[in-house]
Amino acid sequence: ERPIETLQKACRETAHKRQFINVGSAVVHWFKSDLRLHDSRALYAAYQFAKEHQIPLIGLYIVSPEDWTAHLTSPARVDFTLRTLKRLQQDLGELDIPLHMETQEKRRAIPKRVVELCQKWGAKSLYANIEYEVDELRREAKLVRLCADNDVSFTPSHDTCVVTPGALASQQGKQYSVYTPWYRSWLAFLKENPDYLEISEEPGSNPGNARQQFKGLFDCKLPDPPNTHTLSDEDQKRFEGLYPAGEHEALQRLENFLEEKGKEYEELRSMLSGESTSVLSPYLACGALSARTAVAAAKKINKGHIDRYDPGYMTWISELAWRDFYKHVLVNWPFICMNKCFKPEHTNIEWEYDKDQFQAWCDGKTGFPIVDAAMRQLRHCAWMHNRTRMVVSSFLTKDLMLDWRRGERYFMENLIDGDFASNHGGWGFGSSTGVDPQPYFRIFNPLRQSERFDPEGEYIRHWLPELRDVSGKAIHEPYARGAAAIAQKNGYPRPIVDHAESRDRALGRFKKAIQ
Ligand code: FAD
Repeated sequence: ERPIETLQKACRETAHKRQFINVGSAVVHWFKSDLRLHDSRALYAAYQFAKEHQIPLIGLYIVSPEDWTAHLTSPARVDFTLRTLKRLQQDLGELDIPLHMETQEKRRAIPKRVVELCQKWGAKSLYANIEYEVDELRREAKLVRLCADNDVSFTPSHDTCVVTPGALASQQGKQYSVYTPWYRSWLAFLKENPDYLEISEEPGSNPGNARQQFKGLFDCKLPDPPNTHTLSDEDQKRFEGLYPAGEHEALQRLENFLEEKGKEYEELRSMLSGESTSVLSPYLACGALSARTAVAAAKKINKGHIDRYDPGYMTWISELAWRDFYKHVLVNWPFICMNKCFKPEHTNIEWEYDKDQFQAWCDGKTGFPIVDAAMRQLRHCAWMHNRTRMVVSSFLTKDLMLDWRRGERYFMENLIDGDFASNHGGWGFGSSTGVDPQPYFRIFNPLRQSERFDPEGEYIRHWLPELRDVSGKAIHEPYARGAAAIAQKNGYPRPIVDHAESRDRALGRFKKAIQ
């Protein structure tokens, strides 16, 4: 049974009990990766319930240090989440809605604690948006039953995807594992069901007198990050400048991007210098921005269409669709959560585990300027351009033949926008081991990628100070194009592998595995 089915079953089997639960004296919305007021299905449902019964609405955020361990979340993402929570607490406070935040040592203790809190506050109704990772779905299923047994009604809502996972199937009734037919079906579904792009209203002032009844909840402290996940002052300041927190910032960025860059997106999105993409991924990942709002805004500026007129807006919508696609894949084939390849034959690929080469890749010292610039960008910004995410994932898995799981994990440990489904999907694509992968024989040539997407070498010079004085085309390949003296003087390494030889090795290993 897939975890989504376990949840559906739990909801079905407890329906009769939930029917008889009374209103209670408060209602709770449990915030997870939906840290916003605008366009949240569950939050608005909770608010409506509170309004209908004139009882106070309480916000809850509960986290375990286990959620924040290295391979699940980066320190930059933890810091961003905390800053977002702070903004959320202020915004809710202006509506007289308290936000109770707390830390639970063990993840598995969270459902019990949520029920305890509901009981403490006299709340009989709990609302939350569903997260689609395996552990989270199982937890939700457990919570539905636990709540029903304790006289609390828990309503989980689909919200994080534009189209609900499971809603799209082929004519034979099968779930899609290839993006293009899935995307056609996604577009058709949204055209037939325009209400899926309707934005939920924001809650208004708290209907009950929470300031009086729940006074103590209004100045709740932010949870402490685990010791492993605190940032230096310098890093914190830099991330604050790069990614100011909160939904107001996210909505402003969305508007600016669509007005200033949306039209040129199709043409310019792969160019590495010039900030041609939205950099909204950190906000989408922590839920300060809803994907539905983003698609609806692009549709609006594109004269009300999602599948014609301006190629810029259409392409941007199709990129947001990739986010939905990977979440649908996760729900349909949850075993990918266990570090598994999508196709069994890919399990046979022989990977390398060379520590020095892995470290050179992490440090941006492989001697391939485009790869190194990207890895330094990741370290400095906790973010990387999509084009270079593809380049560095292909380089790690095809040129170095290192196990894709190491790269996937390193990304999660470092990205501010780390999202399991998109990251796993991206690594599956880059390493040709995932669902709908890049065919294994199409191996990115780092030099060609560099010449094509950073023709003047501006991106490379920006991130690699060692090569700033290299002029012209030598920037793409300093040792082979007459800039060896500068590179050597500044300590920039020679290429750690030969691309042509590595390519042959990768082709051989893939062929052997799938024969
Ligand atoms: P824009 O180009 O402005 O696109 C808008 C939004 O569409 C993005 O914010 C994102 O939510 C979504 N999107 C765009 N491209 C993709 C894609 N290929 N897959 C899924 N969603 C997409 N994205 C993450 O959000 N978190 C990750 O952990 C992540 N890991 C990745 C790992 C690899 C190896 C690869 C190849 C891609 C990964 N991506 C990930 C997808 C993509 O690179 C980022 O979403 C994108 O670079 C974010 O920049 P942006 O907000 O400027 O995107």
